[in-house]
Amino acid sequence: MKFDPANKIQDLLQFGEFGDVNPSITDSATYTFFEAKTMTDTFHGEQEGCFLYSRHWNPSNKYLSDALAAMEGTPAAWVTGSGMAAITCTVLQLCNSGSHIVSSLTTYGGTFAFLANYLKKFQIEVSFVDITNLYEVERAIRPNTAMVYTESMTNPLLQISDLPALSEICKKKNVKLVVDNTFTPMQIAPYTLGADVVVYSLTKFVNGKNDCLAGAICASEEFIGSLADVNTGTAMLLGPVLDPMRSSAILKNMHTLHIRMKQHSHNAAFLAQRLEAFGVKVIYPGLPNHPQHQLMQNLMNPKFGFGGMIAIDLVSTKVASRFMELMQIEGVGYLAVSLGYFKTLFSNPGKSTSSEVPEDVQKSMGLSEGLIRFSVGLDNDIERTWQKMQSCLEKLHLE
Ligand SMILES: *Cc1c(COP(=O)(O)O)cnc(C)c1O
Repeated sequence: MKFDPANKIQDLLQFGEFGDVNPSITDSATYTFFEAKTMTDTFHGEQEGCFLYSRHWNPSNKYLSDALAAMEGTPAAWVTGSGMAAITCTVLQLCNSGSHIVSSLTTYGGTFAFLANYLKKFQIEVSFVDITNLYEVERAIRPNTAMVYTESMTNPLLQISDLPALSEICKKKNVKLVVDNTFTPMQIAPYTLGADVVVYSLTKFVNGKNDCLAGAICASEEFIGSLADVNTGTAMLLGPVLDPMRSSAILKNMHTLHIRMKQHSHNAAFLAQRLEAFGVKVIYPGLPNHPQHQLMQNLMNPKFGFGGMIAIDLVSTKVASRFMELMQIEGVGYLAVSLGYFKTLFSNPGKSTSSEVPEDVQKSMGLSEGLIRFSVGLDNDIERTWQKMQSCLEKLHLE
């Protein structure tokens, strides 16, 4: 039996303060104690179930964290005000000045910028590798390597990381495996495949409404405890706390995530096939010609499909830009960055979300200037959407 994240969320029963089926939203920054000693014990982390101050823990964020831990199969989780906060807190918690990181070259642009530019302040060196080349990954690990960092499905080229094999290398070398699972909630459960820490931008599929930013870190009790430590915890001390109003909204959206991921996958697979048949170069892990198609099949939880992300290569920025403008006019979706929304979003990564990556590096990772990344929406009639896209493609040919 494969792990089923949807069942894990469904099985979670969370009773609110007054028996509310949606737990009440915590509208408090601080909390009272009847006895002074309980406060002292809470401060030292010895008092279970007591809340002290909302940057540390608050009940709304605890409910959302518990749901995320259930979904990922991790003992614990922590939520943050953005995906970048989850990533930066995790990296800073695991690394010391002088540490070394091995990272996939293809990652989210903000992550790449943090690793390549920001960490220099702390003399933390990063080796960027082709994460699908396990030999290269292992060879890049040094005695001071603290972690291997990757994305389950990488941005924007949609490579699939071989998480069990990476985990084996990491265990052998005694380094942590940190995995960003933003593109594949439900489809892939990295912790069950050997990752030590799973990070998320909840801004994308998990919330799915494009109305707020949020992030999450899913890991062992020990790691989450270290992030929250009042003396040395990166999350506690840097303070990127998620607002409880938002966390309660995200928690409700998590309960429809499995249905949404199935529909995103269904629509993306349909468009990928049609685009390919039309003669466009398509990258989609669900297509048999994708280099890690079989690998994804082996890793994924059944019944959620191959995800909602597609990339196509129109070779030049000019043609890509024109196609995106036409699609927006036709009502296919929005020319916008981000992903995991109920409407289709498309953008040119080289000029937007991956523009932090220098052009020569973009070339070396195979990121064409004419690449368009699609986050396919929840369209009820995807054949109708394809008709619109096709008419845009035909217009391009005529111009
Ligand atoms: C958007 C994104 C992030 C950053 O998340 P924010 O919520 O925007 O801070 C990190 N990783 C991936 C894969 C993303 O798509």
